[in-house]
Amino acid sequence: NKSEGPAVIQPPAMLGMLGGGQLGRFFVIAAHEMGYKVTVLDPDKHSPAGSIADVHLCAAFDDAAALQTMAQTCQAISTEFENVPAETLATLAQSTVVHPSAAAVAIAQHRVKEKTFFQQAGLPVGPFVAVNSESDLPADGDMYPAVLKVARFGYDGKGQARVANQAEAKAAFAGFKHEVCVLEKMLALDLEVSVVLARDVHGNIAAFTTAENSHLNGILDISIVPARCSEVIKANAQELAKKLATRLDYVGVLGVEFFVVGQQLLINEIAPRPHNSGHYTLDACITDQFEQQVRVITGQALGSPALHSNAVMVNILGDSWLYSGEQHEPAWDKAFAHGNLKMHLYGKQEPRKARKMGHFTVIGDDAQAVLNTARIARSELH
Ligand code: ADP
Ligand code: MG
Repeated sequence: NKSEGPAVIQPPAMLGMLGGGQLGRFFVIAAHEMGYKVTVLDPDKHSPAGSIADVHLCAAFDDAAALQTMAQTCQAISTEFENVPAETLATLAQSTVVHPSAAAVAIAQHRVKEKTFFQQAGLPVGPFVAVNSESDLPADGDMYPAVLKVARFGYDGKGQARVANQAEAKAAFAGFKHEVCVLEKMLALDLEVSVVLARDVHGNIAAFTTAENSHLNGILDISIVPARCSEVIKANAQELAKKLATRLDYVGVLGVEFFVVGQQLLINEIAPRPHNSGHYTLDACITDQFEQQVRVITGQALGSPALHSNAVMVNILGDSWLYSGEQHEPAWDKAFAHGNLKMHLYGKQEPRKARKMGHFTVIGDDAQAVLNTARIARSELH
């Protein structure tokens, strides 16, 4: 019955993934488990997802021939790479199913568009100023200290500078080659939390439990689930994330990062894809965020996001190989000695500083014991 909407795409259909990083790799694993095949587009010969995909198109994200192959051979396509050109999504969407939309991704990949959208949607956001030219930088006063962030292509704290006053902001803006930026007032954060959710073509939403995140040098370090904050804040985060996804008319998996300042929640940023802070769902939820991504783009029903264990996720960076000035393999056996620790290594060949090489999640019934084990396991890695 055609009036019921788009046809469901059944296994063993070929799906497409734009981007070959770890998020794409987990998508490939989920899709394979569910009986689908995957074509990955990524210019890196050794990309984590490309190396386990059914087909790896080793080409740029705007390569016309590769996009044509994807459009012709993939029945539904998604992205794991936030900075995929929005035009690529738009082009593919002319001939096949693509989620999320080019319009939603274009907002998420541009900090000024993103924050302006939050504001216009009536969602709480911290004080910010769009900086197109030096004259947009506010005079000394209320807005400082602040963080200047490039509008595009920043991640893991890259493309950001902390500035105390207008003079420093001007210097930082020059350092960013006068690219469009956003200046955000530096907030006294009590906590950072995030909500990952999946929204389907019918507008149904399945949100995962609110996670508490701590960062080290601008990179996610640990996620603790459930977050250790008031039930009101956790519920409020869920509601705001759902409202945001609905206002964006978003279809796919969405990560929403929040700042907690006192009892107030502010939206920091969104990611139009599965999110690092949602990796705990692989081991602690009935359905994980990558299975949910497969379900959404194929038009299958959403899975249950229910949490079945407390979880603490710890990122493993290239730094774990590079301690004490030399290169060592981390002590994996010590991690595996914990029977409730689930290890995930991404198959990246070169352990560079600040590069995400893997993560582990400790799960269990006792939240404090889980956190203690995670801390011990991470310290035992080196
Ligand atoms: P990225 O794309 O690198 O994740 P974010 O905007 O999320 O960029 O910034 C990374 C981290 O820097 C945040 O998770 C937070 O810890 C800190 N940070 C960013 N903006 C602010 C701010 N306005 N006030 C306080 N801390 C901030
Ligand atoms: Mg962030």
